[in-house]
Amino acid sequence: MWGIFYRLKHNYRTQWLASTTVFLSLTLSGCSLLQEEAPTPVPIQATSTVAPTVAPTASLEPTLAPTLIPPTETAEPVPVEPTPTATVETAPTDPPAPTTPPEPVQDALFIEEGQLNLYPPGQIYEGDQVTFHLAVSIPDTVSFSNVAVRVDIDGEKLTEQALNGRNLGREYTLILPLVWDTTGKAGTHTVTFTADPNNLIQYGDENLENNRLDYELVVRPAAENFSRSNQSWVVKEIPYARIHVVSGTAAERDLEKLAIVTEASIQKAIDALGEEPRRIYDVYFIERVIGQGGYAGGSMVITYNDRNYTGGRIDEVIVHETVHLLDQQISNNSRITFLAEGLAVYASGGHYKPEDLNARAAALVATGNYIPLTQIIDNFYPVQHEIGYLEAGAFVQYLVDTYGWDKFKEFYADFQPASDGFNAARLNETLLADYGKTLEQIEQEWLTKLGEITLDREEVADLNGSIRFYNIMRRYQAIHDPTAYFLEAWLPRPNLLRDRGATAELTRHPEQTINLVLEVMLTEAEILLRSGNFRQAEVLMGSIERALDNQNNFIDPLGATYNEIVLEAYGRGYEIQRILLDGQSAIAVYTINNQPTLYTLEYSRQGAAWAVAQ
Ligand SMILES: [Zn+2]
Repeated sequence: MWGIFYRLKHNYRTQWLASTTVFLSLTLSGCSLLQEEAPTPVPIQATSTVAPTVAPTASLEPTLAPTLIPPTETAEPVPVEPTPTATVETAPTDPPAPTTPPEPVQDALFIEEGQLNLYPPGQIYEGDQVTFHLAVSIPDTVSFSNVAVRVDIDGEKLTEQALNGRNLGREYTLILPLVWDTTGKAGTHTVTFTADPNNLIQYGDENLENNRLDYELVVRPAAENFSRSNQSWVVKEIPYARIHVVSGTAAERDLEKLAIVTEASIQKAIDALGEEPRRIYDVYFIERVIGQGGYAGGSMVITYNDRNYTGGRIDEVIVHETVHLLDQQISNNSRITFLAEGLAVYASGGHYKPEDLNARAAALVATGNYIPLTQIIDNFYPVQHEIGYLEAGAFVQYLVDTYGWDKFKEFYADFQPASDGFNAARLNETLLADYGKTLEQIEQEWLTKLGEITLDREEVADLNGSIRFYNIMRRYQAIHDPTAYFLEAWLPRPNLLRDRGATAELTRHPEQTINLVLEVMLTEAEILLRSGNFRQAEVLMGSIERALDNQNNFIDPLGATYNEIVLEAYGRGYEIQRILLDGQSAIAVYTINNQPTLYTLEYSRQGAAWAVAQ
């Protein structure tokens, strides 16, 4: 079906082009775990091995990224959002006794600008069912479930509800899925959020003015909506799983190949854990990036698009997310993020690609980037992502290699999470009971072992490059694709959306030209990195950072080149997915009108400008 292939070899400059259409290998990324109460995302990797079936020689090099572990979706319809039950404290008690001078009170209940995200992401069109996702700061003395938020639209009350979720950044949130029907509502509206509207909370809420947020919401006419709307879900059954894709997306285009990769990846996870699934898994391939490329709760949600700027291989991502589902059988649903992510990275054999976890962890220690385990265990997602996942995975590998898989499985099953969500002490107790050693002793033994590994310069370059890349990628998300930024993202349960017939939440995303340019640059940087071209990757990463540092102006020649080609193609109505740059020429891979067919166009530098090659 695709006549042409190109291949990106380790040498980035080598490419083949066979015809006008290209099969693009896709990329998936990292995973996060959503848990029932306090969602903690976990990255996973996937390596896409989806190979074009057409030309035997063409090898697709998919780029995948790590994924997050979303809330555990159970079989039955479930409450929409993870409800944090962990750290909630009791309601405010009596005021301080008169004899003790009251401590100066700090106003802790407020809503900040920028704490609101809307879905579908990118742009709201008439006919959309809008989801509001608002983070609210609350005093330590108040239970989140006692903090109500009232929502008004144009002065008319829409709803009033208590906070009902918690994001991976540990902020309390109000999530109102698909709550406002915009049919017939094109135009500009004022949405007002008021925390504690009846002023029930006094202590810790001294300033009432910052309890309110007014947001101007523009609903564009349906006629302007060229994004995919009113699509349907397409389902394909394979052993152990049902694959769900949205019609008209890259995932539907590549569904047959995805089915093969998914089946093989699920089998790999089964083999790694020695566990057979006790139910059929739902696997959703979505066309927007969330977090590092995926998450898993009761089902798996994995990014599959043609411009997957999070990188990562799709097969690795699927293995990782499958482990997040399978391990619930071992842990009896009582796992903690550190161990769950560690097990997923260990069982996948790496986070974003096949990795030697021992050598990589040794490189981490040798470069001074190691973070003590207690810090990671108690604060997994906020810790630097790549470091947290690597240490967790390498630590699990150490336990398995040293004391055996059966012992580890027993330990994993024995672990009972602490009720306050801080598990370092609990981990210490469980290690002592099962292995006869404290966390400190085992960590020390492990570090000694890592210290004996000869430092590999390639490994160091790869590790440092990965950490830098993902830090830049997340910085891009926080600024330009905020609903994808893992600490603040809403990780929707796809069955809720499917039941409501909604798909835009899983396909739409910001598509300004700045998004296209930076996403293309990120995509190419990750491919360079993964293929071992560290120096070229560093140059490209530097260019991306420079644009972010300079109000999105591309001031160096490399960034200017990507920008120029994207804009030239945009003027033709083309959406660039990839740019394969080779000196004074470039091959641009693009789509038209949000359709998943890929085309290519050759550019060359002509004088001072880039133009379509004659
Ligand atoms: Zn994960």
